[in-house]
Amino acid sequence: MQDCLFCKIVAGEIPSKKVYEDEQCYAFYDIDPQAPTHFLVIPKQHIQSVAAVDAGNSAVVAHCFEVIAKVAKDLGLESFRVVSNIGEQAGQSVFHLHFHVLSGRDMTWPPG
Ligand code: 5GP
Ligand code: ZN
Repeated sequence: MQDCLFCKIVAGEIPSKKVYEDEQCYAFYDIDPQAPTHFLVIPKQHIQSVAAVDAGNSAVVAHCFEVIAKVAKDLGLESFRVVSNIGEQAGQSVFHLHFHVLSGRDMTWPPG
């Protein structure tokens, strides 16, 4: 999608530090890490957020979770948090579906 930051990252138009890539998903380190390990897993296809997941695109979302499990295992993460913000009030700033994977520090619950 034009003018989508993460579509541009998938296309290689904006550089990123890749963690993992396959035909459906891309994973890269967050530019402003909120934990010692903080990477993002995104579908290559443009989906606005979890709120736009439907029967037509849910397979790629399921695949993103396989990628999260695989990368977490490969990085040796024993405890981690997966977060997806939906809409501005919840903290979404990039409107291309992404799952934050955070690890390496104590985390509070409930989140702020
Ligand atoms: P959101 O706020 O939408 O939940 O998450 C967007 C995330 O993208 C933020 O954690 C932000 O630091 C990250 N981000 C924004 N721009 C870039 C960028 O150009 N490169 C990388 N690697 N991460 C980015
Ligand atoms: Zn996009």
